[in-house]
Amino acid sequence: MEYEVVIGLEIHVELLTESKMFCGCSARTFGEKPNTLTCPVCLGMPGSLPVINEKAIEYTVKTGLALNCNIAPFSQFHRKNYFYPDMVKNYQISQYDLPLCTNGYIEVEMDGHSRRVGITRVHLEEDTGKLVHVGGAGRIAGAEYSLVDFNRSGVPLMEIVTKPDIRSPDEAKAFLQKLKSILEHLEVSDCNMEQGSLRCDANVSIRPVGSKELGIKTEVKNMNSFKALQRALAYEVERQKEILEQGGVVEQETRHWDDVKNVTTSLRTKEYAHDYRYFPEPDLVPIELDREWIESLRVSLPELPDARKKRFQEQYALSSSDASFLTSSKALGDFFEECMKSYSDVKKVSNWMMGELLYHLNAANMEIDECAVTPKHLVQLLKLIDDGTISGKIAKAVFEEMFETGKLPQIIVEEKGLTQITDEEELTRIVELVLEENPGVVEDYRKGRERALGFLVGQVMRLTKGRANPQLVNKLLRERL
Ligand SMILES: [Zn+2]
Repeated sequence: MEYEVVIGLEIHVELLTESKMFCGCSARTFGEKPNTLTCPVCLGMPGSLPVINEKAIEYTVKTGLALNCNIAPFSQFHRKNYFYPDMVKNYQISQYDLPLCTNGYIEVEMDGHSRRVGITRVHLEEDTGKLVHVGGAGRIAGAEYSLVDFNRSGVPLMEIVTKPDIRSPDEAKAFLQKLKSILEHLEVSDCNMEQGSLRCDANVSIRPVGSKELGIKTEVKNMNSFKALQRALAYEVERQKEILEQGGVVEQETRHWDDVKNVTTSLRTKEYAHDYRYFPEPDLVPIELDREWIESLRVSLPELPDARKKRFQEQYALSSSDASFLTSSKALGDFFEECMKSYSDVKKVSNWMMGELLYHLNAANMEIDECAVTPKHLVQLLKLIDDGTISGKIAKAVFEEMFETGKLPQIIVEEKGLTQITDEEELTRIVELVLEENPGVVEDYRKGRERALGFLVGQVMRLTKGRANPQLVNKLLRERL
């Protein structure tokens, strides 16, 4: 049977506010000593009173506007009751039936086609603390004991829930990339998946093609990279297909993605909203947003990826796919524009970014803003090629070195003596040596085998360790053949 894949995503985003959601503790908790950024409010001590962080509301409304949502003039916080060891209050302050933003969408590009993925809601809640499992490879299974770090408890957490509009694991990845880029441009989160400031869960089901009813879904958790998301969803789709094809029934449950074993495993059966006994948070007043304030935020929105892509196409005459790539993250777009300030060849910059830079970033599993290569490095390298100091081939070796060491290309070229040989006399000596050593090949060329020339050029390059100027080598060889 042919199946249709139905995926909805829930994305949790830690907001980049200075302080936590309901108290004055610092929200910049990554890498800090455990339990050093806490107070009676975020530790849930009896009698402590929460106060709403206005900046977090602003960031969430901005996000809602960027995602084409309706912004609720009236919204409210609820208590979501459940027990979990990293949540001392036994309830989480979250939003329930009156979220801040509803009913938006994102346009996602796949293979040159644009598809609209609906956003059900964007709401605000507080993050929980974190369990650190000791032993058992960091997983709860097999751990000797667990420690609790409450630093993260109370950090503003924005939850974005999509409609079940996503039709493949690839599309899910493209959606998340687009969303991440929008959030980066808004500067509401650092969106670091590995550090947990962007976390994605997925609801996955399949149904026979043409069916209008939704199949039974599972929720997949713990995908902390784009690659993991794609692989986890592909695995889960196949798993469900197998169950249905063998006449079985998919169980509604929460499953954990194991990135090492490449499988999802059952975590628990799914809880339902009524299990949480939501009720309005009595310590917080409802949020009433002023129309004018919302409109002032709408006007102040920065340039977003779609608009930036369009501008890149117009301003730099880039193709649609090149412009898409360069705006796929804020850091890439910023890198490109920084290069353009001191270098004019658009095509060279974009080719090197999409070629060498991307290749090395992928190989090192790094983001562009984590690597040592800056726009200054790349522009200097391109200028060294342009003025003939180094060949394009040598430039690739220099790139690799500067990616690893962060040294400027000029320094690397000087230190390693990589300067291109453009001295005609010096090259002539080598060319003549090569001709003497390869009389057979010379004969072939003279009989009309054009490809023999390539071999001779290669020999000159070998003897000069790639430093010979290729145009000059070609010229000198042809003169003598
Ligand atoms: Zn606190």
